[in-house]
Amino acid sequence: MTPIPDLHTHSIASDGTLTPGALVERAVRAGLTTLALTDHDTTAGVGEAAAAAAGHGLTLVPGVEVSVTWNARTIHVVGLNVDPVNPELAEGLARLRAFRDWRAEEIGRRLARHGIQGAYEGARAYAGGNLIGRTHFARFLVEQRLAADTGDVFKRFLTTGKPGHVAGDWASLEAAVGWIRAAGGQAVIAHPARYRLTRTKLLQLIGEFREHGGCGIEVVTSSHSRDEIFTFARHAREQRLLASAGSDYHGPEQPWLMLGRLPPLPDGCIPIWRDWSSCAVPAGAARATC
Ligand code: AMP
Ligand code: MN
Ligand code: MN
Ligand code: MN
Repeated sequence: MTPIPDLHTHSIASDGTLTPGALVERAVRAGLTTLALTDHDTTAGVGEAAAAAAGHGLTLVPGVEVSVTWNARTIHVVGLNVDPVNPELAEGLARLRAFRDWRAEEIGRRLARHGIQGAYEGARAYAGGNLIGRTHFARFLVEQRLAADTGDVFKRFLTTGKPGHVAGDWASLEAAVGWIRAAGGQAVIAHPARYRLTRTKLLQLIGEFREHGGCGIEVVTSSHSRDEIFTFARHAREQRLLASAGSDYHGPEQPWLMLGRLPPLPDGCIPIWRDWSSCAVPAGAARATC
């Protein structure tokens, strides 16, 4: 059986631990036929990934995961099949990376005030010249034995109300979807269950997202339970969104999360990979059952 595509993965170009080439190699070994590289706020790894995929029977979908501030929360919007060098997208992402640079220094200053020295330099070393994310801070703090694992770091130091927390100042939802569309891509709401939104807020998010031209939602993703998969399949159907699937793979350090090992989309979902040339939900699809 052909595995379903994995349309959400990271490399060292953001906070993954594999080079784009090594990620593609793993995808090929795992028997995947379609893989999207969707690094946070950058398309820098796409060229290497596409070159590595060529000749291996793997279709590399150029992608990105854009950080968005919506109603004072951080939401992630995946862009699939984007032109990685589109100037509008590139400029937008460059602004987000500039905020990341400042935020990283600010996280370092805040942790220093809390008695943890050298965190900025430590995170920067983990980032290895690529953009700095909170995951790089987490790896450094684990190395320093200040926390048991990266999840523990987030809980104790990096989330709202904790000493190293810095509020996001990311793209607006409209801008993020606009850049993705300008680059010829399709916008997808990433891991929707992670935001813990009330039903009202979720429907508001989906409504605004669609108004701006967004067309997909991740129904299948590693952080979704079975129930959540079916809940978001229903939302996809009722709100006329295409369904996406992606592991959110960051590297072999998270052995519970396998590249491309995803359950199938529930029946009745329209897979976003069915037609990359169109963002439209086919007529009659709304009547299909998820
Ligand atoms: P950033 O975009 O730099 O704010 O970092 C967000 C990234 O941190 C996510 O994409 C995950 O890779 C990671 N992350 C967020 N929350 C957690 C958590 N609770 N445990 C482990 N990693 C997390
Ligand atoms: Mn990440
Ligand atoms: Mn994300
Ligand atoms: Mn991700």
